[in-house]
Amino acid sequence: MGLPEQIETRLFINGEFVESSDGKTFDITNPATLKHVAKVHEASEKDTDRAVASAKAAFPSWSALSPAQRAPYFKKLAALIRENNDELAALEAASMGKPIGSFFDGFAAAGKFDHYAEAGHTVQGTTSVQTPGFLNLTLRQPYGVVAAIIPWNVPLLFLAGKVAPALIVGNTVVVKSSEKAPLTSAKLATLVQKAGFPPGVFNVITGFGNVSGSILSHHMDVRALSFTGSGRTGRLIQAAAAKSNLKAVYLELGGKSPAVVFEDADLEKAVQDTAYSVQSNSGQVCMMNSRIYVQDTVFDKYVELFKGYLTSKVAVGDPLEKDINHGPQADEAQHKTVLRYLEMGKQSGNLVIGGAAPSDREGYYIQPTVFTNTPEDAQIMKEEVFGPVVNINTFKTEEEVLAKANDTEFGLYAAVYTRDISRALRFAKGLEAGTIGVNCTSPTTALNDGPFGGYKSSGTGREGEPFYSLSNFLETKSVVIKLD
Ligand code: NAD
Repeated sequence: MGLPEQIETRLFINGEFVESSDGKTFDITNPATLKHVAKVHEASEKDTDRAVASAKAAFPSWSALSPAQRAPYFKKLAALIRENNDELAALEAASMGKPIGSFFDGFAAAGKFDHYAEAGHTVQGTTSVQTPGFLNLTLRQPYGVVAAIIPWNVPLLFLAGKVAPALIVGNTVVVKSSEKAPLTSAKLATLVQKAGFPPGVFNVITGFGNVSGSILSHHMDVRALSFTGSGRTGRLIQAAAAKSNLKAVYLELGGKSPAVVFEDADLEKAVQDTAYSVQSNSGQVCMMNSRIYVQDTVFDKYVELFKGYLTSKVAVGDPLEKDINHGPQADEAQHKTVLRYLEMGKQSGNLVIGGAAPSDREGYYIQPTVFTNTPEDAQIMKEEVFGPVVNINTFKTEEEVLAKANDTEFGLYAAVYTRDISRALRFAKGLEAGTIGVNCTSPTTALNDGPFGGYKSSGTGREGEPFYSLSNFLETKSVVIKLD
């Protein structure tokens, strides 16, 4: 599958595509071929301010509509996303290396717009007569301008997961896409225009974090900001909110997720799931199980099966080709970071498989890599690598492995594999993470019927159902009515 002849790279502000005000652009390079893909317009301070101002101007009339009046725009957009799924897949592959065969993002994003089209009326306030002489109620009302700052690893889905709930309850939005993967967001903006959203309701800009991202985080007219990305940036955004207008901030950050495999587990299934978790999207998944703890009695067998999975199931190659399921890392910077961790890994643990960039291809590829018997305090056990790299360690007892699994500053996802129901529930309770997989692991989540988010430094707040995403974008007002 090829790229479209015309790639949209401009900013979408107030319903129109515009070039950056200072003429600045940046280059997107295909991480598989190292060929130039596009020159993308970079939002300046002025552009970012203009996007916020247009969202602010659009707010009164958009918030005056009912959810039922907003819904048709969502339905139209969802249908357009589905129609353009193949092009979106090709754009993602060419900019950040996700194989087109693994691209679920378009349909998932369309599903979010369809879902929220129906959900706008479901968040309601309360009434109370508990204070004698009063009838008290609460109103749930939109904030006004909401900003969404998204990462490059699953851009379309995160965009939709933030923007759809924010818009359906009456907010207007400014999305800032990642400078590493801006092409699908810009394409989506063309579909927003086609769907006929009123100007200013849904703005999409791209650019660098320290310019447009920072301006949005400090902006006095942005009242809520939803962010998915690294802990480092999340902290900067939280600090920017504190320094400016104390905007509501929701942070979905990184992880160092453990998977615990007991000897009574279905070992083959556990290997299949945990190896897929490491390899999928070339390991560039926040909740990927990057630390695996296997009971000592089945450790050798598990590692053999794991190696077998990586050698037989992983097809490394150009992400624009259909049968490939393992593309390159997103860019040179990611590639260099992962290579650095591979060196650290070799110094602290035993290398079982992988451990380098493949020698037979250019592009930012990394071989799926397994280390065993790495000391718990090694740097690679503590930090997020964001590549197809896993540390597999052994354990003897439940107490020991629960302590090891929780000995991390992160808490996004944790998994346990066992056939013992009591043990599974003890671990579901004891593991410190926002999502626990029992006999399943990431990227499996409760898609449309559960919240998602992190314990500890993996984030603040939750997205998803029931009502978390919608509530994130609503203020609560108490109305106190004195009865005569
Ligand atoms: P990143 O933090 O480098 O960038 C994310 C976004 O923040 C980009 O749009 C970037 O331009 C912007 N940004 C950078 N500096 C900024 C600043 N000073 N102010 C405002 N915005 C700024 O993260 P990334 O490399 O794009 O994504 C990878 C990280 O995201 C990993 O840590 C991963 O675990 C995490 N992630 C978390 C989830 C989740 O749901 N918890 C999902 C996907 C990715």
